[in-house]
Amino acid sequence: MSHTALTAEEIAGLSEQPFFKTDALIAGCWQGSTDGDTFAVENPATDEVIAVVANCGAIETEQAITAASDALAGWAQTPAKSRAKILRAWFDLIIANEQDLARLLTIEQGKPLDEALGEVRYGASYIEWFSEEAKRIYGDVIPAPSTDKRIYTLKQPVGVVACITPWNFPSAMLARKIAPALAAGCTVVCKPANETPLSALALGHYAIEAGVPAGVINILCGKTQEIGAALTSSPVVRKLSFTGSTAVGKMLTAACSSTMKRTSMELGGNAPFIVFADADLEAALDGLMASKFRNSGQTCVCANRVLVAEEIIEQFTQMLVDRLSKSVLGNGLSQGTTIGPLIQKNAVAKVQGLVAKAIEQGATSVNLPHQTPSTGNFVAPLILKDVTADMEIFDAEIFGPVATLIGFDHYDQAIKLANQTTAGLAAYVYTQDASTMIKASEQLEFGIVGVNEGIISNEMAPFGGVKESGHGREGSKYGLEDYLEVKYVCLGGLH
Ligand code: NAP
Repeated sequence: MSHTALTAEEIAGLSEQPFFKTDALIAGCWQGSTDGDTFAVENPATDEVIAVVANCGAIETEQAITAASDALAGWAQTPAKSRAKILRAWFDLIIANEQDLARLLTIEQGKPLDEALGEVRYGASYIEWFSEEAKRIYGDVIPAPSTDKRIYTLKQPVGVVACITPWNFPSAMLARKIAPALAAGCTVVCKPANETPLSALALGHYAIEAGVPAGVINILCGKTQEIGAALTSSPVVRKLSFTGSTAVGKMLTAACSSTMKRTSMELGGNAPFIVFADADLEAALDGLMASKFRNSGQTCVCANRVLVAEEIIEQFTQMLVDRLSKSVLGNGLSQGTTIGPLIQKNAVAKVQGLVAKAIEQGATSVNLPHQTPSTGNFVAPLILKDVTADMEIFDAEIFGPVATLIGFDHYDQAIKLANQTTAGLAAYVYTQDASTMIKASEQLEFGIVGVNEGIISNEMAPFGGVKESGHGREGSKYGLEDYLEVKYVCLGGLH
């Protein structure tokens, strides 16, 4: 796809589109905060303010919870086929407007336009998938222990669901939660990240256009602590589905225990990327470029520690330098950009701090030709060699375009280094040996393993982690179960 940087007029044109919403969506209406307070959203590539959004708090959250609660019975009783049709109409509208939605996403989040378009389509694919799955929610008939009884199970919606999502995939992370929730018959109150509310609010606009009834989807941002406290303490909210950092996930899980809510936690990762000596190195580089540098290294499944067999590490490093030298750092709207900015200035400082500490501890940085733009939150892509397991950068989720290379001598050492983390989201293995593929995928303590594959997420597969990367699965048939209760009915006294 070819594109050039948008002019100021074109950006202004986007803000005149009907999907460009800055108010909260509550009970089917767009409303400002009760006190009229707002906050600014900035373009991370230019530091420009692109929108001023309603700064909501506890009052608006209570309104949204009430709206979701009022809408619940009607939506849960809407026949699955009708819910499916509405979800499908929502998917169709998103796809019909995907180019504009991608521009909006790039302007608020920073990722290159091609990636933003990929995200819009990826998020929409969950809406399509769950529109189909909505019709396939089955209970069981179970053999009873005596002839006077019958046992069967019903699958029923969990109820009102709170969805809290991060800024790194502002469209897809929300779609991945709302779609299964609505398919199951639940209603939702959503709190997208304050850095990137516009893509979420745009999804809300198209949901209403598609016929989602008032109150079924509510979306608000603003005073994070107040919104979080109102959602987690409410007895009406029966589930929290959260995607974000492990630290916040733990805190929210604890807060949900007072009302014994169900939780789904999609938390931080620390993905090992293992390249065995027999790997197809070009394929491994394709996978590493995709998994490490997509979204400037700001994905939960980003390769975080690149473990390379000692006998090929020099060759592999040189091949990576050649590939990475061709990447283009810049504004995601500019033609040819492959690596955009980080989300915030403090993210830049965090990544730079991790790199400086690693170098102090003995890592070596490999020179690359990129110039950092003068505005925005940019970090030039970087390769660090001679990284060891005792360095802070080995344990931290880097969340920036920095590849750390660590050598290993044999299979057991590679698996041990890979598993040496409290996170357990995604892992990658490159080898041409079938035994290594099978053994490694069984022995890696992660929820997702990519074998000779760097792009691992799609709507048909269960996405989620183990250990401190959380619990629950998004996508696939398993993704729907997270929004359903199993009710057992015992029919007795038959004669
Ligand atoms: P974050 O700081 O945990 O924020 C995530 C969301 O939680 C944002 O909407 C944030 O709101 C909200 N939040 C923060 N404190 C809260 C509180 N006290 N009450 C209620 N909501 C609260 O994470 P992030 O830095 O945005 O996202 C990056 C993290 O997400 C990384 O660790 C990444 O690995 C993880 N992630 C995981 C997955 C997965 O599927 N496992 C996918 C994507 C990202 P504000 O924006 O207002 O602070």
